[in-house]
Formats: sequence, structure tokens, C-alpha cells
Amino acid sequence: MDQVGEGRVSDEDKQLWARLRLAMVATLVMCSLLFGAGYFAFDRIVQANNSSVEQVARIERMRLIADRLADEAATLQTASSPAHGMLAQERFASALGEFARTAALVISTTLRVGDPAQVALLRRQPHGLAAMLEEAHALAVTAGETRDPAAARDARRASRKLSRLVGRRIDRGLSDLIQLKKTYLASLADRVSLMAKAVAGIALATFLIIWRLALRPILSTVAERTHALMAAKDDVERALLFDGLTGLPNRRNLLARLETLEIDAPLGVLHIDLVGLHAINTTLGWETGERLVSFAADNLGEIGLSEDLVARVNADAFVLAIPRAVDAEGLQDLAVTVIEQVGRPIEVFGTTVRLEVVIGIAARQGRVEPAAKLLANADIARSRAREEGGSVYFSTDMRQRLAARRQTAQELMQAIVAGEIEPHFQPQIDAKTGIITGVEALVRWRHPQRGLLNPLFFLEIAEKAHIDGRIGDIMLRRSLEALADWRAAGLPIPRLSLNFTAHALRNPDLCAQLMFALDRHDLSPADLSVEVLESALILDDDDPVMKTIEVLAAAGFHIEIDDFGTGHAALSCLRHQTVSRLKIDRSFVRDLHLRPRIRQMTEAMIQLAHTLEIEALAEGVETQSEWRLLRELGCDGLQGFGIGKPMAASDLPPWVEQHERRRTKGGFLPRAANG
Ligand code: C2E
Ligand code: CA
Ligand code: CA
Repeated sequence: MDQVGEGRVSDEDKQLWARLRLAMVATLVMCSLLFGAGYFAFDRIVQANNSSVEQVARIERMRLIADRLADEAATLQTASSPAHGMLAQERFASALGEFARTAALVISTTLRVGDPAQVALLRRQPHGLAAMLEEAHALAVTAGETRDPAAARDARRASRKLSRLVGRRIDRGLSDLIQLKKTYLASLADRVSLMAKAVAGIALATFLIIWRLALRPILSTVAERTHALMAAKDDVERALLFDGLTGLPNRRNLLARLETLEIDAPLGVLHIDLVGLHAINTTLGWETGERLVSFAADNLGEIGLSEDLVARVNADAFVLAIPRAVDAEGLQDLAVTVIEQVGRPIEVFGTTVRLEVVIGIAARQGRVEPAAKLLANADIARSRAREEGGSVYFSTDMRQRLAARRQTAQELMQAIVAGEIEPHFQPQIDAKTGIITGVEALVRWRHPQRGLLNPLFFLEIAEKAHIDGRIGDIMLRRSLEALADWRAAGLPIPRLSLNFTAHALRNPDLCAQLMFALDRHDLSPADLSVEVLESALILDDDDPVMKTIEVLAAAGFHIEIDDFGTGHAALSCLRHQTVSRLKIDRSFVRDLHLRPRIRQMTEAMIQLAHTLEIEALAEGVETQSEWRLLRELGCDGLQGFGIGKPMAASDLPPWVEQHERRRTKGGFLPRAANG
């Protein structure tokens, strides 16, 4: 395939082109030869014909002059006086001269036309005639001059003889000449036909040579290439309609087949998603992934009936289309079978692996609904199944929700460009002294119509639309700008906490990017806390998130575990010495007073942190009693509405001023009895 690069001509093509050029030159030469020969032959025929007509006229004239000569000779014979004799002699001589001139013209024309037989004949005829004429002339002159009766008699005799001869010879010569003309024209025609045959022969030979040298190889190459092209077209068509790995129809093909059904014919669709395939591809390799896909394809082929259709519509998704009347329950049962069959563990290359399978179901029973819409509905139900697990039957509110989410994603994209995304900051303080220890940056969307929106509304949508990275960039840039400004204004903000998604932490260049951003504001890693949700931690040392965290910790960044106590990682994530603070989730703080068990758990978490020489900060502190209790439990830091709500960067300096005033006056810290 790579041979057929653009602008590249193969050696074979070059040779073919050379041959074609040769063939064209040969054809050109042959054509000019044919044309030249044709022109020559035509010219000869026309010329011969013209000269023949003229010759005949001339010969006719010669006959007339000959008749006149005979008359003059007779007059000469009967001349009664020398004067009469002289006159007749002069007239005879003049007729003789004209005869000779005409004869000469006939001869020269014949010579020019070039027929040798005619030339010989004419040479003989007029020459013999001329000799005789000369003789008669001489006699007439003598007779005229001498006026001797004997001489006159001789001249008369000679004239009579001449008259007879001229008559006879001219007659004969004329018929000979006409005969000759015919023969000559016939021979000319023979020659022309011979020439035509020769030309045809040459043309045939040239064509054969051209055929052998150029046309045949070109035609056979064209035939070969056309064949190859048709084969390639078949391959492309196959690739366009079938999946290369499983040989199953692809989405296009499936849709085309489903569209041949009546638009209200019973049809159920199972959109089957292999959830963990991507992770298996990246961890165990794509060979394992492909084995699993083939395994799924084989199993799906066995689950339905013969009229059911299986298609691979995506790298990690199949569709089982059921073109028969099956009710919702029946479809759900089929989905369960698929989940059990395709999701069962199998051994691939010595490792036992299994796929998590989720299924979206949609169906039309007697309802008019295009197949494409049914597939789209099953796909929507599948996204819900991804969140909930198992199988989910489509309902119309799912589509509305999806449309709303898409709309939000669209608006969010515009909001990013329009600068509507901004950080707000929530203060964190030391539980014992009330001294500000830092601020946490929390993202806000300043919506032109709906006001300030909090991240629970849009962050998940941003992640799904893959624009969370851009929001993260804005948060980093604008938060660091704010911190640099506060520092410049002498505000005591020792540290800034930023929230990072697991996706952001999978970026191996994150550390370098943070360092670069800090450097622009003369800040250092010690000024920044990286908050990682406990749920984002996968307890595998090879996980990219763990690797990034280790790199960040080594570079001097503070690492905090957010929402501690709610994720699955729990204690295991503290194995590493990279964590510098635990953020105890708001749900513990909220129930601190209500449930003694929660209080014991919170105390245990704080003690655990201290044992590991890690700070503990409580989130969501709303009341003075919560504050006091947490302080008694030994909690190091506090954050919550009770201390300060998240606020815009410009609102922080007045808040700090007020907080510092109250703190130094001692009126800020809750007293033990207060509450
Ligand atoms: P989080 O990191 O646990 O942030 C604390 C959340 O609790 C904030 O909600 C904050 O406004 C709220 N909060 C603080 N004190 C109190 C309190 O006393 N009572 C109550 N009821 N709530 C309190 P917010 O700003 O809506 O953020 C929600 C979550 O969104 C955050 O939870 C964090 O997980 C995520 N988030 C916020 N900003 C960002 C960001 O820039 N990047 C990333 N990746 N996630 C962010
Ligand atoms: Ca946080
Ligand atoms: Ca939190």
C-alpha cells in the first residue's frame, strides 16, 4: 500500500509511458507517410489526366495542320506560275512550322509525364515525319526557286507522298496515342493500387508493432489494475460494513438492516457495554482485550435466536437486536443472561479476567419508531446503566436529562471562553488559636442569568464533556494570581488548597506544570496544597494517580486527603508518607453531636492522623459547639460556614481584617461554656 504514495510513479509506469510515447511517434510517422504517398499518387493522377486531355487536343490540332499541309502540297503541285509556286511554298512552309511546333509540344509534354512507351512512340513518329517534311520543304523550295518543271514535278510528288503519309501516320499515331494513354492510365492505377496495398501493409505492420510494444502491455496493466481496484473496493466495502476483529456487522450495517424492517414491526434493542475493557487494554495489553471482545462476540451469538442480530457498534460496545415480539420483562431477562454469560470470568494468557457488563434496553412494540431512534434510546439507557450498573430500561425523562446536560455542557464551553468561571475562597484556621492557616479554592460559574452556580451543578458535566481540564487550568491560574496579590498586600495567607480530579492527577506532567505556574508568581510548592478525593485513590502503587502524588510530594507540595472517611481507600491510603493532612468529611462533623459513635470515629481519625504525624482538618464546621468539640477532640484545623463562607478574591482582605481584629481581641474563639 505504501508504494502508492502521492506523486510517485513506479518503474513499470515509466516503461509504459515510454512505450506509449514510442507508439505515438510511430503512429505520427506512419500517418505522414500515408498522407505523403496519397498526395503524390493523387497529384500524379491529376497531372497525367490533365496532360492526356491536352495531348489529345494537340494531336487533333496536328491532324488539322496535316490536312492543311496536304492541301498546301496539292496547291504547290498545281501552281500555274512561279509566283503562285512561291506563295504556295511559303504557306506550306508556315504550316510545316506550326506542325513542327505542335509536335515538339506533344513530345515535351510526353517526356514530362514520363511514360517511356509513349515517349518512344512519339519520338519515332514526329521525327520520321519531320525528316519527311524537311525533304518536301526542300523540294518545294527548289521547285519554287528554279521554276524547273522537273523540280516542280518532284516537289509535287514529294508533297503527294507527304500528304498521304501524314494522313496515314497521323491517324495511326493518334489511335496509338489514345491507346497508350489508356494503357498509361491503367498502369498508373495499377501503381496507385500497389502503392495503396504497400501503405496498408506498412500500416498493419506498424499497428502490430505498436500493439505488441505498447497497447497490449498498457491494456493488460490497465486490466490488472482495474482488477486490483475492484478487489480493494470490495475490501473497503467490507471494512465499512463489518468489524475487522469479530467479523460482526458494524453500526452502519446494523442500522441499514434494521431499517429494512417495517417501521412499527416489533423490535427490541440491547446496547451492551463492556465497561472495564479500556482499563484491561491499558493494564493487561490489547491482546487480552481483543480476546475478551471475541469471547463476548461468541457468547452473544449464542444467546439470541437465529433471527436476532449481533453487531459490534463500538470498540467496547455491542448491540443485540431482537426483531420479534418480546415484552419488557423478556428483554430484561435476556439482559441478565448477557450479563451472566459475557461477564463471567475467563482465563486469558494465564490470567483470570472478567468484564463488567452494563446494558441499556429500548424497544418498540406496535409503536412507530425509526430504528435509529431506538438505537439512540438504548444508548441513553446504557449511559444511565453505567452510573447504576446492571441493565436499565429506557424512559423518555432520560432523554430530557441528556438533552439538558448537553445544553449545559454547551453553555459551559461558552462560559469558559467568556471568563465566567472563577475561584472563590474559603478560609481555614487553626482550631486552637484561630490563626488563618490557608484558603481552599472552590470553583464558581458566574452565570449571566442564573447567578453564581456551585460546582455540584456543572463539574460532573464538565468531566463527561472533557472540559474539566480547562476549568482546572483557569482555577490554577486565577487562584495563584489572587494569592500573589494578597501576599503583595501583606495579607497573612500561608497556603492555598486546590482540588484535583483523578483525571488531572493521571497527567504525568502535572508537577512540571504546577511548578511553572508557581514560578510565574514567585511562589513555591510549599505554598500549595493538592487536595485528592479519597475515592480517587486506587490502592495500587503502579497506578498513575499514585505516581503523580509521589512526584508532587517529593517536589514539596502538601498532599491532603479530601472527604476522608467516605471513600473506599480509607486507611490504606495512609501507607504512604506523602500525605500531610486529612480532611475529615462534613458528614462526620454534622452528626458529631447526634451520634456518639460518629464522635468516637472522628476522635479515632484524629488520633490516627496524629500517630502518623499528619494534621487533621474538619470540614463543614457550622456552629461554635462543633468547633469547640472538635478542638477538644484534638482536631488541628477547621473549615466551614461557621468560620467563613467561600468568597470572591476581592472579599477576602476585608474578611481577614475583621477576623484578625476579633481574634486579637479574644472575642472570636468559642469559650468552653459557650454553645
Ligand atoms: P469539597 O472539596 O469537599 O469542598 C467543600 C464543599 O463544602 C464546598 O462546596 C463548600 O462550599 C462546602 N462547604 C464548606 N463549608 C461548609 C459548611 O459549613 N456547610 C455546608 N453545608 N457546606 C460547606 P462546593 O464549593 O459546592 O464544592 C463542592 C465540591 O466540588 C467540592 O467539595 C469539591 O469536591 C468540588 N470542587 C469544588 N471546586 C473544585 C475545583 O476547582 N476543582 C475540582 N476538581 N473540584 C472542585
Ligand atoms: Ca476539597
Ligand atoms: Ca471535602
